[in-house]
Amino acid sequence: MPKKICSTCHGGSDNIEIQCTNCSGTGYDPNEDNEFAQCHSCYGEGTVQVDICPDCNDEGKIDDEDEGL
Ligand SMILES: [Zn+2]
Ligand SMILES: [Zn+2]
Repeated sequence: MPKKICSTCHGGSDNIEIQCTNCSGTGYDPNEDNEFAQCHSCYGEGTVQVDICPDCNDEGKIDDEDEGL
C-alpha cells in the first residue's frame, strides 16, 4: 500500500492545525443562543492546534487512496 504525506500535518508533528470540531471551522459557537457567539474551542479562529494528528495518528503519512477521482 503506497503512502503519501498527510495533508493535515504535512508530515510533521509540530503545531498541527485542524478544523475546529466544535464550530466546524466557522469560528462561531453553534451551542450558543447568539449565532455570532465566538467559539470557545478555537476562539473564533476556526482551527485548533493539536499535538497528535487525528488523520495519521502522528505518523506523518497516510494510505494513498484515490481521492477526487
Ligand atoms: Zn497527519
Ligand atoms: Zn471553533
